[in-house]
Amino acid sequence: MTSNGSSMANTHRTKTLIIGAGPAGYTAAVYAARANLEPVVIQGMQPGGQLMITTDVENWPGETSILGPDLMDKMQAQAEHAGARMVFDLVSEVDFSKRPFVCRTDGGDTYLADTVIIATGAQARWLGLPSEQAFMGYGVSNAPLPGILCVLNQGVTARSPTRRDTLIAA
Ligand SMILES: Cc1cc2nc3c(=O)[nH]c(=O)nc-3n(C[C@H](O)[C@H](O)[C@H](O)COP(=O)(O)OP(=O)(O)OC[C@H]3O[C@@H](n4cnc5c(N)ncnc54)[C@H](O)[C@@H]3O)c2cc1C
Repeated sequence: MTSNGSSMANTHRTKTLIIGAGPAGYTAAVYAARANLEPVVIQGMQPGGQLMITTDVENWPGETSILGPDLMDKMQAQAEHAGARMVFDLVSEVDFSKRPFVCRTDGGDTYLADTVIIATGAQARWLGLPSEQAFMGYGVSNAPLPGILCVLNQGVTARSPTRRDTLIAA
């Protein structure tokens, strides 16, 4: 399904395909658009990325404090203003063995791209406890920076989601 609601499978030719719409994807989109590389951003299941599920972001230059979703709205708006096109779909298959590169999506579309930028980020690996969801933001969290160790108020210890470490239940 594309952002305009169409469900017809199509083949698209693009100079630049960006997979992922977190901070990295939007940043790449701004630079690519300003270089006339006409980027198409496939947003995946979480447009805006991980910061959509956080509250105050206080380490973003130029903002004393900003809500994660507000920050990501601004990043998307900036990328679109520069000329990037957003597509709400998920890349399910890629073929980098030939040029142009081929990317297929869950929605059935095919993208033929001269350049593909992969900005699919990371996902926190949660323990799967019901209390994680219930207390998220109220003491249960995951550490945003690599190498940070979090001690959570339920006796659960977790490492950064950006590392591949195993979560440990204490
Ligand atoms: C709760 C929480 C709070 C945080 N707080 C802070 C903070 O205050 N300050 C800070 O600096 N960092 C913080 N972080 C870390 C920060 O969110 C990440 O470092 C950052 O989001 C990584 O950006 P990214 O663009 O690389 O990837 P992500 O934000 O992970 O975005 C990945 C994107 O890829 C897309 N995607 C994935 N697979 C596919 C696919 N197959 N096809 C198409 N698209 C796909 C997703 O939909 C998403 O849009 C926090 C993280 C969390 C979880």
